[in-house]
Amino acid sequence: MSPSDPMVIVGAGHAGGRAALTLREAGYAGRIVLIGDEAHLPYERPALSKALLKGECSLDSCSLFSEASYLASGIEHLSGVRVTGIDTVAHCVALDDGASLVYRKLLLATGGASRRLDLPAHQLGNVHYLRTVDEALELQNNLSPDTRLVVVGGGFIGLEVACSARDRGCDVTVLEAGSRLAARALPERVSEALLTLHRRKGVVVHLGVQIEAFHGEDRVEAVQLSSGERVPCDVLLVGIGMQPNLALARQAGLDTGSGIRVDAFLQTSVADIYAAGDVCESARDDGTFHRQETWRNAEAQGRLAALNMLGQQQPFNGVPGFWSDHYEFGLQTVGVLAADAQIIERESAEGGFLLLYLDRQSRLAGACGWGVGNSIAKDIKLCERLIESQVALGAEQLCDASISLKGLLRGAHA
Ligand SMILES: Cc1cc2nc3c(=O)[nH]c(=O)nc-3n(C[C@H](O)[C@H](O)[C@H](O)COP(=O)(O)OP(=O)(O)OC[C@H]3O[C@@H](n4cnc5c(N)ncnc54)[C@H](O)[C@@H]3O)c2cc1C
Repeated sequence: MSPSDPMVIVGAGHAGGRAALTLREAGYAGRIVLIGDEAHLPYERPALSKALLKGECSLDSCSLFSEASYLASGIEHLSGVRVTGIDTVAHCVALDDGASLVYRKLLLATGGASRRLDLPAHQLGNVHYLRTVDEALELQNNLSPDTRLVVVGGGFIGLEVACSARDRGCDVTVLEAGSRLAARALPERVSEALLTLHRRKGVVVHLGVQIEAFHGEDRVEAVQLSSGERVPCDVLLVGIGMQPNLALARQAGLDTGSGIRVDAFLQTSVADIYAAGDVCESARDDGTFHRQETWRNAEAQGRLAALNMLGQQQPFNGVPGFWSDHYEFGLQTVGVLAADAQIIERESAEGGFLLLYLDRQSRLAGACGWGVGNSIAKDIKLCERLIESQVALGAEQLCDASISLKGLLRGAHA
């Protein structure tokens, strides 16, 4: 390895792209090589299930780089190239075109892949997954008025696709095995709001269902439920979560759990290798590891990993958070929504509501809001500042919507 060897980033998604840009913005003048197996410049994925699927925006508007800014940055983007191995001793990565590349520092930002349904190959003709822009455009081509779309999985991606498909005039049925929607990430109150809204918009939602069989010759024509019901199907969208792309890290002997394990500085267990984004499992102060699958995390970790690759040693302590859009409603969360927290409900703007999660010391640890459009955003921002303030709050004040969160924040800083 020599000082002229490049900074190498594996995975040209959101975290990888942000890291490459940050290296340049922070003044790094050496070679940066960004390797991705997709054919596109790095882009943000949230629009894939929303505006892009509805046909309201294009890939360009999701891209982290414009073509011009990419050329000006001097970042070398190897598109459609897969990294197949890491030699941690020789400090080099192997590429699927037979080439290899020595790295000075290496960032693994390999994200994840959609979890697959176990279906026979001959039935896959109309089965879709949604992780990449190519998959989004292919799905969009198949959603016409009166298309009967069956969504397997009542999580965020399945539900957002249901919204977009209703917008395109499709008949939509959502099949969820659990007893409520989006249960992995959201409290019951929000699951109820989602269920009411989606049913009101004409989506048929089945909760607690077991799929017994998929019928059809060269495509899925109907889904057989264990209740005996048979749901006719023109297009099947599977939204049952994602699996982090860990193969490279495991093969190279890096510590992994449910993601690539990193310390507070996003460094893996092997020298000069960092990880960021959906694939990264970062250490908390209490010694536990947590992996996030959110835009905010990809943005923050991509940036921070780049700074630390340049030797800054900044710890990762970002407050978690995500959003999801459903028809004219939006939900946002910030902080940690622990199942054992004291939860206080508070009215919010335009008929929305806010759930406030207090820890044992009555400090705000997390919040989840639901409201029309972006109406909840201001309250969520204030909650983030209350979380950071670490001040003890009274439950009576919090549930009283006439006492402003801004006022509570001012009190916290008094
Ligand atoms: C449809 C959809 C909607 C979403 N909506 C929201 C939302 O509303 N709010 C929110 O907070 N979050 C949302 N997210 C989540 C958010 O987009 C992800 O958390 C974010 O994209 C993660 O970024 P990443 O860079 O870690 O991974 P990715 O964006 O997945 O990028 C990883 C890249 O690495 C590539 N790669 C993997 N292995 C290799 C290899 N060996 N060699 C070369 N390349 C490789 C992959 O192909 C991919 O291009 C959504 C995600 C999806 C899919």
